[in-house]
Amino acid sequence: MSNHIMPTYGRLPVSFTHGEGAWLWDKNNERYLDAISGIGVCNLGHAHPAIHVAICKQSEKLIHTSNLYNIELQEQLAQKLCELSKLETVFFCNSGAEANEAAIKIARRYGHSQGITEPTIIVMDKSFHGRTMATLSATGNSKIKNGFEPLLQGFVHVPFDNISAIEQAIQYNKNIIGILVEPIQGEGGVNIPAEDYLNKIRAICDQHQLLMMLDEVQTGIGRTGKFFAFQHNNIIPDVCTLAKALGNGVPIGACLASGKAAKTLTAGTHGSTFGGNLLACSAALAVLNELENQNLADQAVNKGALICNQLAEKLQQNTQVKNIRHKGMMIAIELSAPCTELIQQALLQNLLINVTSENVIRLLPPLVITQEQIEFLVNTLVELVTEHTKQ
Ligand SMILES: *Cc1c(COP(=O)(O)O)cnc(C)c1O
Repeated sequence: MSNHIMPTYGRLPVSFTHGEGAWLWDKNNERYLDAISGIGVCNLGHAHPAIHVAICKQSEKLIHTSNLYNIELQEQLAQKLCELSKLETVFFCNSGAEANEAAIKIARRYGHSQGITEPTIIVMDKSFHGRTMATLSATGNSKIKNGFEPLLQGFVHVPFDNISAIEQAIQYNKNIIGILVEPIQGEGGVNIPAEDYLNKIRAICDQHQLLMMLDEVQTGIGRTGKFFAFQHNNIIPDVCTLAKALGNGVPIGACLASGKAAKTLTAGTHGSTFGGNLLACSAALAVLNELENQNLADQAVNKGALICNQLAEKLQQNTQVKNIRHKGMMIAIELSAPCTELIQQALLQNLLINVTSENVIRLLPPLVITQEQIEFLVNTLVELVTEHTKQ
């Protein structure tokens, strides 16, 4: 551990040197199964050959030129993302928080264009949108905000998965111009809303001319069994943000928009030095290519169901397992009591997992996880949970 790193993370006592697919190796050549994919980033697993080749080839030619010039790879990537999403334009940046910043700026400018001088966005309790001042203000978790006041104004929080709370907020506030929501709350505890939640939000946004903005930073890129989680609902949002898995570890974020939102940010109103540079775009293009060629979203459906069925079967007698839920490969095992110690205990069994909301084991396995690795994951986790809930 270094004294020269700002202590913003509580880090586990392990450091990895190389990986392959869902496996990671540490300095002592000890092997671990990565069931969290670098927090939903490495959907194609580690050291994927297609990504390796793409970024090597690109770095040989050109890494960066800046957005002062046309960037063909960026245009290709934008076209691909628009084809996949049916949205119209893309702004590229470097992270999820930045993608959401772009969405928030779009909404505010859209509001001003409608004559609303204090545009306000409806956001959700237990949401997570990032760590910048705007995105932490939008986030629905006081732990993320404490000590950073004054917060940015222009957000109204309502309970997640509650349509009447949204309707009320709109009724009482004339400044509402949009709704920003995660299709499934990730950091908030893998909260999966009612099946028609997004459809109802779409209808409300149409009725009141609000921007429907989806934070798909964690749910996007095949994670839930569709390329975008909103595709489970057959709707199209006005704005959609991506990051995490878009570059499989090469930092890249994107804010997609359509209709009124698509042309709101004009020359000089927003920017990013690195955003959408050649190296990042080459990685993202390789990710999308691989995702399509290997049908990885479909694999997320099958493997997610397989993992959860096995977990449910093996843990069904355990009264302290409250709920096992998933959409594709976004998986939660909710226990009746806090279980953060499980992260360390799993590490000792060579398994990398995550716990959110104190009592929810969160799994975000790489979509390329193999049958043998799934067995190791399920067996190890069942043992850990059984042992943990005995006490
Ligand atoms: C991780 C995450 C973010 C923040 O992304 P960063 O790249 O860390 O800025 C935003 N929204 C959601 C839903 C996330 O899961």
